[in-house]
Amino acid sequence: MKNEVCYRCNDSRFDRMLAIDKAVSIVKCRKCGLARTYPYPDFNYGSQEKYCKFYLDNGSSFRTFARAIMAEVKKYKTGGRFLDIGCSVGYLLDEARDAGFKETFGVELNLDAAEAARKKGHVVYTKPLEELKLEEKMFDAVSFNHVLEHILYFKPFLAQTGRILKDDGVVYAGMPNYNSLMQKWLKQNWYGWGMPDHVWHFEPATFKAVMMEGGFEAKGIKQNTMGYSYSKSLRKNTIATVARIADRLGCGDQALGVFKKVIFTQVDWLR
Ligand SMILES: [Zn+2]
Repeated sequence: MKNEVCYRCNDSRFDRMLAIDKAVSIVKCRKCGLARTYPYPDFNYGSQEKYCKFYLDNGSSFRTFARAIMAEVKKYKTGGRFLDIGCSVGYLLDEARDAGFKETFGVELNLDAAEAARKKGHVVYTKPLEELKLEEKMFDAVSFNHVLEHILYFKPFLAQTGRILKDDGVVYAGMPNYNSLMQKWLKQNWYGWGMPDHVWHFEPATFKAVMMEGGFEAKGIKQNTMGYSYSKSLRKNTIATVARIADRLGCGDQALGVFKKVIFTQVDWLR
């Protein structure tokens, strides 16, 4: 890893955590602990035909996930404008509308998925957030579920999120958590590594720290289990059962949380 420095802290010392295959590894910054894919993946999101179909074909699972996310958001915020970054075909936006958010917006780079969400009446942008010139303090709630781990330059992304969020707004974020029973058991076969497109890999501590550096304070990080379905395969069913047990024990392989904007006022500084 010559001439490579950590995007988060600029340190140049990395430890290899795991080899995914001969060409790709997961490495971890020795100073700040942020894990990444080495080498960085290069992935085109715009033209993935299977992407939209996958979300439409697995609608009932994704609707269940969306309902669980909205249950968390609703504890802190209902009503106003909701933005889902990486909205896919709009399942979370549907739930947001049902929960009382009057205006629902999405960002989705996959054009087919964006169109499917638009057909349900949501406003969907098809450019990265950093390229959209959205109004300052436009949104009451912003979500990005399983998105941050895909974004190479997450600092300007988080800065933009803070800029477009109202001061009393909330952010929901979720991502795979590698510090989990499922990862420790399945190693390079754990699907949370998200090959070939995940750039970053988080566990609750780095998730919370990166969000804080981006200007968002955690109101509570939870660990639950990602969707493992039962099927005719014994191996898959064993994995699904262990995943459910991990969920019950609070050591699931997804980390998620609701965050509030950190606002530094002079009064805070004087305290
Ligand atoms: Zn680092």
